[in-house]
Amino acid sequence: MTRAIQFDPVQLPPEAEAMRERVRDFLEQEASAGTFAPNGLGMTGHSPAFSQRCGAAGFIGMTWPRKYGGGERSFLERFVVSEEMIAAGAPVWAHWVADRQSGPMLIHYGRDAMRQRILPRIIAGECYFCIGMSEPDSGSDLFSLRSRAERVSEGWSVNGRKIWTSNAHRSHYMIALLRTSLATEENRRHGLTQFLIPMDSAGLTVRPIHNLTGAHEFNEVTFDDVLVTDEHVIGEVDMAWKQATSELAYERSGPERFLETIAVLHGLIHAAGQDPEPRTAEGIGRLVAQVATLRQMSLSVAGMLHDGKVPEVEAAVVKEMGTNWEQALPGTARDLVPDIIVEPGNREKLDEVLQQATLIAPKLTIQGGTREVLRGIIARGLGLR
Ligand SMILES: Cc1cc2nc3c(=O)[nH]c(=O)nc-3n(C[C@H](O)[C@H](O)[C@H](O)COP(=O)(O)OP(=O)(O)OC[C@H]3O[C@@H](n4cnc5c(N)ncnc54)[C@H](O)[C@@H]3O)c2cc1C
Repeated sequence: MTRAIQFDPVQLPPEAEAMRERVRDFLEQEASAGTFAPNGLGMTGHSPAFSQRCGAAGFIGMTWPRKYGGGERSFLERFVVSEEMIAAGAPVWAHWVADRQSGPMLIHYGRDAMRQRILPRIIAGECYFCIGMSEPDSGSDLFSLRSRAERVSEGWSVNGRKIWTSNAHRSHYMIALLRTSLATEENRRHGLTQFLIPMDSAGLTVRPIHNLTGAHEFNEVTFDDVLVTDEHVIGEVDMAWKQATSELAYERSGPERFLETIAVLHGLIHAAGQDPEPRTAEGIGRLVAQVATLRQMSLSVAGMLHDGKVPEVEAAVVKEMGTNWEQALPGTARDLVPDIIVEPGNREKLDEVLQQATLIAPKLTIQGGTREVLRGIIARGLGLR
């Protein structure tokens, strides 16, 4: 169906700005206590202790129903907490996936017993999730995935292999997209089901994959006759495509899609000081205007999620534009650096974040859906293909 891409303007309500004060106080206390160094790169630190303190402060499951321990707050308040945490470089990685997308999936499509057991633990910052979508021969084209769950007398037997699974080695559960029957000729999307898989299941093996920087963040996960029950089915059997698409809308549109390298802009501004050269001031001004626009677009998607919409195309636009911007940021900053006369301390800090951001930049337009695939989604949304 053809439709226009629509970004309704959203103003943050007073309660969201009040939440900003709360989260800033919290982060200031954490930074003073030495939990993390402020203004580092976002989305890198994994700290269960920090996650538990976030849980105790009410910063996880903020929009979820009270009956599971959630805060029943708005998506806009959650947006403010997310942007403050990432921009500060807080170590949010442990609880991030569970809070951003796995919990909402369980709320929309999970069994109630499962929700009651798991959601309060996510909210407490004690239970972490990983995303089991990509496979060795199925990344962008998820319809072609082959890992399967077959009916057996005790429930379902899972066999196959997932790859690039971030944090599989330190998660309690995976939400896995699995083939439960063959796709039909009329509908390539048919035959996929989402399952909740405990990571300590017998027959499940996690092997590390080290990335180019040598870090261990993602993994290969194999399933050899892993047994799960009907209780572990999320949503309708064979009909997971729609729910997996809505999961991607949560995954693609948040402030992490343009703030992962924002520490570079902070570093640049500090290094440039109060009285920058005109070329530097203009360059920084341009970057600030661009990130402010991206933020407004991401905020608009948060508003649509709040209204119960599934803004798949708008989320793809935010991810495509946001990740291109954050990927280009280290290079743009390097162009401006020679004109900056800086104090030694600030220069070292800038060099450090520039180095780190340059190393992680290539992944930004791959994780969560590649540039080309997002452009395909946007083109389809516009009726161009
Ligand atoms: C840091 C990182 C973390 C990740 N974490 C996870 C995770 O936790 N869970 C998970 O499931 N996955 C994860 N992924 C995997 C990621 O989602 C996939 O890498 C991505 O979807 C691309 O799939 P692929 O690597 O198989 O590449 P392919 O799909 O093989 O694509 C290869 C190239 O072909 C292009 N291409 C493919 N199809 C088309 C098309 N139709 N039109 C035009 N061009 C096309 C792509 O854009 C790309 O440039 C992670 C990836 C990274 C980099």
